[in-house]
Amino acid sequence: MFKPTLGATTLLDRQSLRRKDDAYIKQLMEAPGAQFLVLADQKPVIRSNAERTEGNIRWFAKADIERLGLPLEEGLFLGVDLATGAGHFAIAVTEHRARHAPGSLELMRPIVDLRSLAMQGVLPPEELSLLGQAKALAAWHEKSRCCGHCGGTTLVKDAGWKRKCWACGQEHFPRTDPVVIMLIVDREGDRCLLGHEARFMEKMYSTLAGFIEPGEDIEHAVRRETKEEAGIVVGEVRFHSTQPWPFPHSLMIGCIGFAETTEIDIDPEEIQEARWFKRGDVKLMLEGRHPDGLWVPGQQAIARSLITSFVEGLP
Ligand SMILES: [Zn+2]
Repeated sequence: MFKPTLGATTLLDRQSLRRKDDAYIKQLMEAPGAQFLVLADQKPVIRSNAERTEGNIRWFAKADIERLGLPLEEGLFLGVDLATGAGHFAIAVTEHRARHAPGSLELMRPIVDLRSLAMQGVLPPEELSLLGQAKALAAWHEKSRCCGHCGGTTLVKDAGWKRKCWACGQEHFPRTDPVVIMLIVDREGDRCLLGHEARFMEKMYSTLAGFIEPGEDIEHAVRRETKEEAGIVVGEVRFHSTQPWPFPHSLMIGCIGFAETTEIDIDPEEIQEARWFKRGDVKLMLEGRHPDGLWVPGQQAIARSLITSFVEGLP
């Protein structure tokens, strides 16, 4: 079955139960094999094309991080490579700091936006997953410096997996925002509903999607978003698959929804157009052979996984 490339396939054991153990984390960080990746304004430093024999992520040793004057003590613990025992960490700094670190000019390039890397499809799933984990965590830290309860300063705890308010003691944990993304199928199972948003590239159609609201379950969110965006009433909802989407820290929950009505009534604030597409047309869009040049998202997107399932015979 088709797998989206931003899935949670990873080579590291996250060891979530050991993050609290400061001595263990320190020992991992100071061991000779410890590996550090650098995020500059949340963009990963990767290897240049000529240096990619050992993977695409540029892993730094502890001595490199110290030489560059980057804040080793702020390392976010990503996990341990069970084959080598090496601890892996992310150091998140501003791009200005990364570029101006002494001796960094050669080491700190290229710095590439993770979304672009995902779109290009050049990184294997394990590396993308790891960079996604690091980026989502770094994005949460950037916005969580003050306590949402009292406004006090928060301090990093548990190797980057918690922040605690210095003033009131409130603990804050990294957040993940759930988003429903749904392929809606008509009653006969012959057609699916795809939409085009103003922000999409020309002629691209994709599944509808929206954030789950407080107090809502997944099924309700699928029905509400589909009704609001396209005016279609959905009955049964089935779970399909999920995908982390670290922009900044979402979890896409892929569903199949079975429509009870067919008349489309779009909300122009949300989408420009929604249409029912026959299976044969969707197949051509997937293959990039549609006569009108219509197309669907690429390998990086869970939308493509949903659309592929429909072409392969859902429901
Ligand atoms: Zn507080």
